[in-house]
Amino acid sequence: MTTDDTDPEPDSTDDEPTAPRDRSATSTDLDFDTMLGATDSDESQGLFDDLLSSEPIFENKEVLRPSYTPHELPHRTDQINQMATILVSALRGDTPSNILIYGKTGTGKTASAKFVSQELESTSQKYDVPCEVEYINCEVTDTQYRVLAQLANKFIDKNEARIESRIETLETVRDQLASEPDSTASNTDTPADEDDIAADLIAAAEPESESTETDDGSDTAQKATDFESVEAVETEIESLQADLDEMDPVPMTGWPTDRVYSTFFEAVDYHERVVVIMLDEIDKLVEKSGDDTLYNLSRMNSELTNSRISIMGISNDLKFTDFLDPRVKSSLGEEEIVFPPYDATQLRDILQHRADVAFKSEALTTDVIPLCAAFAAQEHGDARRALDLLRTAGELAERSQSDSIEETHVRQAQDKIELDRVVEVVRTLPTQSKIVLFSIILLEKNGVHNINTGEVFNIYKRLCEEIDADVLTQRRVTDLISELDMLGIVNAVVVSKGRYGRTKEMNLSVPIDETEAVLLSDSRLGDIENVQPFVQARFDNN
Ligand code: ADP
Ligand code: MG
Repeated sequence: MTTDDTDPEPDSTDDEPTAPRDRSATSTDLDFDTMLGATDSDESQGLFDDLLSSEPIFENKEVLRPSYTPHELPHRTDQINQMATILVSALRGDTPSNILIYGKTGTGKTASAKFVSQELESTSQKYDVPCEVEYINCEVTDTQYRVLAQLANKFIDKNEARIESRIETLETVRDQLASEPDSTASNTDTPADEDDIAADLIAAAEPESESTETDDGSDTAQKATDFESVEAVETEIESLQADLDEMDPVPMTGWPTDRVYSTFFEAVDYHERVVVIMLDEIDKLVEKSGDDTLYNLSRMNSELTNSRISIMGISNDLKFTDFLDPRVKSSLGEEEIVFPPYDATQLRDILQHRADVAFKSEALTTDVIPLCAAFAAQEHGDARRALDLLRTAGELAERSQSDSIEETHVRQAQDKIELDRVVEVVRTLPTQSKIVLFSIILLEKNGVHNINTGEVFNIYKRLCEEIDADVLTQRRVTDLISELDMLGIVNAVVVSKGRYGRTKEMNLSVPIDETEAVLLSDSRLGDIENVQPFVQARFDNN
């Protein structure tokens, strides 16, 4: 490492692009320099020269990705402290209250919860208290079966690892005892403290059920002497081996739910510990599969013997508890923590923290962070959106071989992200909605504005006939148009036509060519392209 580490851009005044840069402490940078030096002399045709010699924008792009868990979370200190205050009981061997966390997407719920759980686990290791955290994302794991199976298997894995290491220790002890019956004499071949470590491990290896009464310190001495005979150690090994053989992982499907539940139950209760189960996106689980899982989890403590569980639910939907059984609701919501949306100033801080690590210094012009923050503040204070914007702006700047990120890159990034969103929404529309949307596109392409429902329906019918799709009623088509309106794909207004009643008039509110391309990429709609001339003919005749 060179002293230049503290100043990432010592040569920023040096315009010579191929000059070796002092800060090249990392191996990638060294490679760059070697390669740049080599280009002058040999056969390469320079395909990469320009790209390599342009000053890179990113120092570490990873920190802008959603998968990155930041170590610092500005403007979430209160929420993090609240969580910690509740969860600290786990480190004292008590059961923490269940916690419900609410807040819109991108308000830092997941990042804060993961940060707190890392701290909790590392502190529990430091003080050697049995406390574990299990994180489940219920958007992915969205049925009771899957949640319980995933939990069961995680605990089975942990139990197995623990048992295997105990067996290993016991085997060492057994061999020691066997080779040296008066084992208290110190062995010259082993380091002085190994016996002590072994004694500790033996103590830890004792089944908890036998030791719940005594406290850990006095246990240790007592247990070390329990194993004076080889046979005693072997009995213990055999019993652990039997436990190991009994631990059957839960298959991904197929078992009755109560078997999955009892497997999970036994796995958690195998030894003394406090377990915090984090259920992220808990609203998705309840929406998809009801509140049975939460009911079952929340009443477990009354039946567990060795262990205790505490639930931390995280929800994007502020009203999701309305769907819960009152018992579940009161048990789960013992403590509630709200994550409010970030305002533009807070988003600026968050972005600045990340930008310091993510970008080369000088890569950002002054307007970039405030603009990203302002755009994201409009999206209900979504930090994820703010970071996406900043990363995308950086990528666009890099692609255009610009030396720095400018305001225009942020605006392009905003358009790109918006377009990606539209593409995704359109791509996943049901086929009938796609046909309706295609009808609107055809009308717009033929210069029809303020399109009314009747016009859409006529084209829609025609298209359905041509591609052999079911034809829905005009009423249903009107409903589908309302849905497209709600998704922001069209903008429809109801207009009164006097004695002819009322109708909807609409315009497309997304880019027409890109949207058409997405629709045509759907194989079920592929034939529509050949239908266009028929429709075209209709306009030409008018
Ligand atoms: P939520 O779970 O509320 O939808 P996340 O925790 O996933 O939000 O946050 C979205 C993104 O914003 C993540 O990349 C996260 O690291 C980042 N983020 C959110 N809040 C902060 C903060 N206070 N400081 C730094 N980064 C944050
Ligand atoms: Mg989240």
